[in-house]
Amino acid sequence: MQKNYQFETLAVHAGEAPCPVTGALDTPIYQATTFASANSEEMAAIYGEEQPGYMYTRYGNPTLHALEEKIAALEGSEAALVTASGMAAISTAILGYIKAGDHVVASRSLYGAAYHFLDTKLPRMGASTTFVGSLRVADFEKAIQPNTRLIYFESPSNPVLDILDIEGLASLGHAGGIPTMVDNTFASPALQRPLGLGVTTVVHSATKYLCGHGDAMGGAVAGPKEYISLLVHEVIRDFGGVLSPFNAWLILRGIRTLHLRMPAHCANAQNIAEFLSRHPKVERVNYPGLARHPGHELAKRQMKAFGAMISFEVKGGYESGKKVMDRVKIFARAASLGDTRSLIVHSASTSHRAVPRDQRLAMGVTDGLVRLSVGIEAAEDLIADLEQALNY
Ligand SMILES: *Cc1c(COP(=O)(O)O)cnc(C)c1O
Repeated sequence: MQKNYQFETLAVHAGEAPCPVTGALDTPIYQATTFASANSEEMAAIYGEEQPGYMYTRYGNPTLHALEEKIAALEGSEAALVTASGMAAISTAILGYIKAGDHVVASRSLYGAAYHFLDTKLPRMGASTTFVGSLRVADFEKAIQPNTRLIYFESPSNPVLDILDIEGLASLGHAGGIPTMVDNTFASPALQRPLGLGVTTVVHSATKYLCGHGDAMGGAVAGPKEYISLLVHEVIRDFGGVLSPFNAWLILRGIRTLHLRMPAHCANAQNIAEFLSRHPKVERVNYPGLARHPGHELAKRQMKAFGAMISFEVKGGYESGKKVMDRVKIFARAASLGDTRSLIVHSASTSHRAVPRDQRLAMGVTDGLVRLSVGIEAAEDLIADLEQALNY
């Protein structure tokens, strides 16, 4: 696939070609664990990586490979690796850089499980993380130690929609010879391409917008070819977070409409954020598309649109937040995000219930905070649903 095609063309075509044997236009689901070689010499050459070819799905599979090529084309990376889930991508990608004695500088504004992995699993392996509570590049710089081997962050972040300076953090990494890694799940490559801003590696929960239909888990790492090869041969080999061919096929199908879905998600979210920010029962709305969001200008520079994740604080705290949750009719009370359907979660009683209250408040996850993943239904129906839910 030619690299100079537009994003929309790459989303449809990259990584996929008609089957050379049957002409099947859609990528087959290679539901096979193992692949036969013509003779012992060829088998040895494939195992020794002297010759391309497949041997065992944990090391590679044609359906997974098509998805890897598509994601690499969309993120503009040399190579990509797909994994069983977003967390498999994050843990695999971090373990590709970090060994005992190493140190990570990470944003504190992170997806909960990614925070946990850095906070509790890296120390088991003799590595450590410093979490930076501020969004300023200078504060990340202060956290760097002589053994820092990775800078890790998310933008926009979950669930408070902080916007971090991707180019600034990438430059900080370059200055110190430290790789930078961004979780690009909330934006997807349709809205934001961190590698073009200087970042070394991008990770995804493909479960979200890439798949887009809430029906398959998956993850992806996009980065330099040599590093991706190391992940396959050193990390996935031993930790085994391999994606199923069927899920790869669902995600391939999902990505073909990513460039159509994202603008619809974003337009709905902008309308809803504006409605909420005018509502008397709403204390605060976190959405980077609102001019008063502290990251608005930065988001405008580094994103094509502002995404479709919103969080808002209902006046009256925990009880009010729960009331809104209980009254919605179209929004599903469900975790996850990036689905065509609109979803709603009350963070304090669900995703953040294990976090001590003072720590939770420091993360911006207040008692009444409700998070929306805005789907692609009609904006007027979604707004009417929230309006009646707030009318308690
Ligand atoms: C969901 C999510 C993850 C984890 O992905 P899974 O596919 O659930 O393992 C990581 N980062 C972000 C930002 C997410 O939203």
